[in-house]
Amino acid sequence: MIKPLGAHVSASGGVGNAPINAHDIGADAFAFFTKNQKQWKAPPLKEEDIESFGTELTKAHIEPKYVLPHDSYLINLGHPEAQKLAISRKAFLVEMERVEQLGLTLLNFHPGSHLKQITEEECLERIGESVNRALDATTTAVAVLECTAGQGSNLGYKLEHLAAIMGMVEQKDRVGICIDTAHAFAAGYAIHERTGFDEFWAEFEELIGFDALKGLHLNDSKKELASRVDRHAPLGEGFIGWGTFEWIMQHDKIQDVPMILETPEPDRWAEEITQLRSFVPS
Ligand code: ZN
Ligand code: MN
Ligand code: MN
Repeated sequence: MIKPLGAHVSASGGVGNAPINAHDIGADAFAFFTKNQKQWKAPPLKEEDIESFGTELTKAHIEPKYVLPHDSYLINLGHPEAQKLAISRKAFLVEMERVEQLGLTLLNFHPGSHLKQITEEECLERIGESVNRALDATTTAVAVLECTAGQGSNLGYKLEHLAAIMGMVEQKDRVGICIDTAHAFAAGYAIHERTGFDEFWAEFEELIGFDALKGLHLNDSKKELASRVDRHAPLGEGFIGWGTFEWIMQHDKIQDVPMILETPEPDRWAEEITQLRSFVPS
């Protein structure tokens, strides 16, 4: 089974450092921000940065399809206010363009928030329209919706939300899903127990389908089941526990997609990856 594993690594000092940092922890997949995630503006990628990224990726023996960039936390593709929605759409397009410039395909993002100003349905429609616009303005990048914990007014905490957005997207082959284990658990999916884990993936298969699974975020949760609070814990040190990660590593339909740690202690990533690999049946 192909289980590409890595973490959300730093790209500080230049995007070319991300594959180096991934290689250092023994990863064969990784996530990173292609720009400062806390700012709207970013200088365009320089030719030398693009070149260095490609060179380092090759040196790290990491395939572009196992790289899962994450967009800025400022972007809200379901924003209730027209002007702020427009700013988000523009910023998202820039992120999709950067993915293409770097020779990558995936861009992971949180669907959006209604901010209690519009209904969930209206917000989902805005998100669907936002994705369509970004796909129309680019050529190959794939928009990867992440399931959320449902904190505040964030949508995407139910698989139905993600399925509804996917249903609105016109270019079906350019939209997919990333499952974050801490988010799913905080949203109320009992994936810490074998029955709840199997039910979750059965529902995933029915509503979305494994072809659309483009990545996983492997995190334990500091908060209880259905807390709707997004706090990651090192694997085995939260309310989910190692069992779930063992089941994921043994699941024959969950494979050939980047599996990314966003756990809070980077010093432990290499060890967490080694432990995860030990669960993969040979
Ligand atoms: Zn995320
Ligand atoms: Mn995540
Ligand atoms: Mn999170």
